[in-house]
Amino acid sequence: MEWKIPLADIDFGVEEQEAVLSVLNSRWLTMGGVTREFEQAFEEYVGVKHALAVANGTAALHMACLAADLQPGDEVIVPALTFVATANAVRYTGATPVFADIVSLDDLDLSPDQVELLITPRTKAVIVMHYGGNPCDMPAFKRIAEKNHLIIIEDDAHAVGSSFEGRAMGTWGDIGCYSFFSNKNMTTGEGGMVVTNDDAEFERLSRLRSHGMTTLTWDRHRGHAWSYDVVDLGYNYRIDEIRAAIGLAQMRKLPGFNMRRRFLVSLYTEALRKNSPGLIIPFSNPRGISAAHLMPVILPAGVSRHDFMEGMKSRGIQTSIHYPPIHTFSAYRDFIPRLDGILHWTEEAGSREVTLPLYPGMSETDVNLVVESVAESLNLQIS
Ligand SMILES: *Cc1c(COP(=O)(O)O)cnc(C)c1O
Repeated sequence: MEWKIPLADIDFGVEEQEAVLSVLNSRWLTMGGVTREFEQAFEEYVGVKHALAVANGTAALHMACLAADLQPGDEVIVPALTFVATANAVRYTGATPVFADIVSLDDLDLSPDQVELLITPRTKAVIVMHYGGNPCDMPAFKRIAEKNHLIIIEDDAHAVGSSFEGRAMGTWGDIGCYSFFSNKNMTTGEGGMVVTNDDAEFERLSRLRSHGMTTLTWDRHRGHAWSYDVVDLGYNYRIDEIRAAIGLAQMRKLPGFNMRRRFLVSLYTEALRKNSPGLIIPFSNPRGISAAHLMPVILPAGVSRHDFMEGMKSRGIQTSIHYPPIHTFSAYRDFIPRLDGILHWTEEAGSREVTLPLYPGMSETDVNLVVESVAESLNLQIS
């Protein structure tokens, strides 16, 4: 279907094309200097000691769970209102994801109070996810983690460029994981990044990315090593030079992209408040600076989301849901919430949330068209 306004759109230009061509012409396609340059630019941008570019955001999360030494029997507290990869990464290690609630319909981030309630002697880590780029309450999570000796892993898939108290999301926890999938704020098609300030974690993550080997093709090519040992059960979670080159070109544009996204969110917020006062627009009291990855709204109770989304579709506007909560999926039948009702706000958001189009190339006219369509699609139901 041809959308008048799609949910998301990439912003590629001649910069990305030239970057790809230059890698192709260099005849060195993976594990090389461009990847290192991409990592260094990322280290500088987020203000972190080590960044490792990887195949995708899910690989980043899996590596973080392995570096945290998660084992069968360990519990990891995670949000249920997130993409399924957040919890899958825990399960890859044999550990158990335990779902905690979000704060409220106004704050769709994981609730520190609800996390604290679920801590047991088996709890080893917490994974926070900054919904739509809106920073979680990291000082509260840091206090809880210190008191209970927990590791904090950040799922920063929405949060590249988000910060709180001047510190980038991804650097608040022990390990930060980013995704550069094609609908994220910056993209390499498929790609990701894992960051840490801890030298030992970094060494472990580097080996895990490439089969647990102690030296790399690049080192051997440069004459730095002849052979290698394998000291970990590693994976092939590498990115290639082509994607790294696209990533570098996208990074240069990211601050502008994020600024534009924040501007569009402010336009949306003002216009929706005026035209559709029955809607809840989450994150009305933002913590820190958001990368503005998503434009979520919560429909009034009793409104059919299906009919609302059909109304938007008939006006040529693509909408989406972030997210069907993970504990409701068939593959998560064995991971039911610890108590009935414990995911109250997650379930409310899971059934009433709709995500509106948001991407840097949207015009103000586009935003106004979406806002008018929202009002019409709501009024159809209310009248
Ligand atoms: C996109 C996303 C991921 C997974 O990233 P991939 O690069 O697609 O593997 C994980 N968590 C969240 C919240 C995401 O939005």
